[in-house]
Amino acid sequence: MNIKVNVTNLHKSFGKLEVLRGIDLQIAEGEVVCIIGPSGSGKSTFLRCLNQLETATSGSIVVDGFEICDKKTNINRVRQNIGMVFQSFNLFSHLTVLKNVMLAPVDLKKMDKKTAEENAKELLARVGLADKAHVYPHQLSGGQQQRVAIARALAMKPDIMLFDEPTSALDPEMVGEVLAVMKELAKGGMTMAVVTHEMGFARDVADRVIFMDEGVIMEEGTPEEIFKNPKNERTQAFLNCIL
Ligand code: ADP
Ligand code: MG
Repeated sequence: MNIKVNVTNLHKSFGKLEVLRGIDLQIAEGEVVCIIGPSGSGKSTFLRCLNQLETATSGSIVVDGFEICDKKTNINRVRQNIGMVFQSFNLFSHLTVLKNVMLAPVDLKKMDKKTAEENAKELLARVGLADKAHVYPHQLSGGQQQRVAIARALAMKPDIMLFDEPTSALDPEMVGEVLAVMKELAKGGMTMAVVTHEMGFARDVADRVIFMDEGVIMEEGTPEEIFKNPKNERTQAFLNCIL
């Protein structure tokens, strides 16, 4: 089994506030890990540490064999292999959908524009938006914008995708179309870490579910184990609240 992400004893503090208090987690190639837990438990901070949007206070994070906490590691190179999708889609409002998807490969990977355009069109077709290439983000629904954001992340050909509550800002009727795209990605073998409150998605798609609380992993297991038979009483209480 090829380990894509290996986190050991990760700590992160903001001033005196200790947000991550010793996280250990390995993610294997092709594995889909869903992270659940109450608000404020450190889920976003954890994902952000994985691509150095936050710098860990201590501990080790090895991604694709590179220790990203090591100052000598070329973090931009590592980051190119990690796609991230946020709750807010953060598309560039002054660029068309196509240009949004083309931008990073052209700018960061120096891909020639024709190839980048072909790739972008292919990706837009994959997320069901082939006909929206030439419109601007504000002309799209939230669900469509989030699908563009996923296509944009995929344009860098990452081998790990991080999702931080990708459907939380969407109207309910748009959640399904975004989850469907993520499900296809998972089926295609993408390594994924997904913070989500969509328990149906976690149950269907996750290989493993992580329950985080107060900066630690309280419990982890298969969806079956976590949803049918949670052992930790905090997990039970959390699931009772949201299911
Ligand atoms: P979650 O995603 O599980 O809701 P977060 O990782 O966003 O949790 O936040 C965990 C805790 O860290 C919260 O108490 C939050 O206020 C705090 N926090 C997050 N980011 C920062 C920051 N940049 N500066 C100070 N405190 C932060
Ligand atoms: Mg969060």
